[in-house]
Amino acid sequence: MRRSQYFLPTLKENPAEAQIVSHRLMLRAGMIRQESAGIYSWLPLGFRVLQRIEQIVREEQDASGALEVLMPTIQSADLWRKSGRYDDYGAEMLRIKDRHEREMLYGPTNEEMITEMFRAGVKSYRDVPRMMYHIQWKFRDEVRPRFGVMRGREFLMKDNYSFDIDFAGAKRSYNKMFVAYLRTFARMGLKAIPMEAESGPIGGDMSHEFQILAETGESQIFCDKELLDFDVLSSGVDYDSDLQPVVDRWTSLYAATDDKHDAAKCPVPAEQLVAARGIEVGHIFYFGTKYSKPLDCVVSGANGEQVPVEMGSYGIGVSRLTGAIIEASHDDAGIIWPESVAPFKVGLINLRSGDAKCDAACTDIYGKLRKAGVEVLYDDREESAGGKFADMDLIGLPWQLIIGPRGLAAGKVELKERRTGKRDELSAEDALARLSKRAA
Ligand code: ATP
Ligand code: MG
Repeated sequence: MRRSQYFLPTLKENPAEAQIVSHRLMLRAGMIRQESAGIYSWLPLGFRVLQRIEQIVREEQDASGALEVLMPTIQSADLWRKSGRYDDYGAEMLRIKDRHEREMLYGPTNEEMITEMFRAGVKSYRDVPRMMYHIQWKFRDEVRPRFGVMRGREFLMKDNYSFDIDFAGAKRSYNKMFVAYLRTFARMGLKAIPMEAESGPIGGDMSHEFQILAETGESQIFCDKELLDFDVLSSGVDYDSDLQPVVDRWTSLYAATDDKHDAAKCPVPAEQLVAARGIEVGHIFYFGTKYSKPLDCVVSGANGEQVPVEMGSYGIGVSRLTGAIIEASHDDAGIIWPESVAPFKVGLINLRSGDAKCDAACTDIYGKLRKAGVEVLYDDREESAGGKFADMDLIGLPWQLIIGPRGLAAGKVELKERRTGKRDELSAEDALARLSKRAA
């Protein structure tokens, strides 16, 4: 992508309304634009990141055996009356009337709808276990929308739902999501710690929140220091195997949010305990027959008896993750994207746009990188070098390839790694080889 043809309205100054670093940087990097309180448009750069995050979430859900569906944002109030939640949900629910005066709502979550969908499509114990998820916009009329996309009113969530014949099956599904979540967040370069938590308005008996550590987090969290060193991705995972040992390994060490933490009863000695702020990026629940009973979601068991299915639900804050990753990965100059979610891998900087040699060298390497499948943002504008450097640092692409007249005269280009600031002078061919290898 040529910067001269892109839509990237970056800001030099910090916007006054943004209180935390991720919100400031998302506005300054031209990723989002606020349309109303807690409601955002995603501009081209921000949308690319959102899609990358969404894709990692999708791949790990698919790997666990969950099936992707897409349910609507607008739901009928009748469904929610059946579960009893229409009145319970309160002011967070956006209620709508259509032209026939029918009561509708913008879904804050989808337990009712998917339970009804599953009920209508299954008959017997052979139809379980199943997991179905979608990645869809939700609306919750939060009292205090704030921190940009971290606590929005309209936000993108992945919500998965599991259906099993009994508790043992439900626990297997829960464990699959537990492991899939660890992998999902690790792939985004995050250390997410599963913590015992209250289950809130979704309700349930067994529940973990996945929290990443960041000063600006809204939750107070406590955990055993050792959890921060657990490795997640080095070995693969077989979702058909018993995952209980993996879950036990994580849950055997202490980790709790402040509503579950009791300093007097905490088993971890002070020097081993991390007390920090956390951002909740995911939440998993087991809630048994809470929805299947009122919504009559039953299957016939092996002996013909009618059994309400055992369910769980599993959410990931896809849009919140965009901000959470920035909270975890930035410096004074701007964002530092982990390669897995970066909007482009490489920022190509032409230090003297308009100079025939610089333009030719940049156009050449730009074409070759694209041919090698490397995503490049080419800053071909006639701007000062300083302005280009500052913008490139701000938007945080993992690699900067810098081409100017002095280097070219010596047959060199410069490659800078955004995370470390490390710069190498090398030939255009070597730079190309290094960047192509990393993209593979
Ligand atoms: P919170 O405790 O942060 O209010 P929640 O417990 O109400 O969240 P869940 O119903 O568990 O949220 O939703 C699943 C995930 O969706 C959360 O883990 C979080 O990452 C994300 N999420 C929830 N509310 C918002 C919001 N207002 N804006 C952005 N993401 C959200
Ligand atoms: Mg929650």
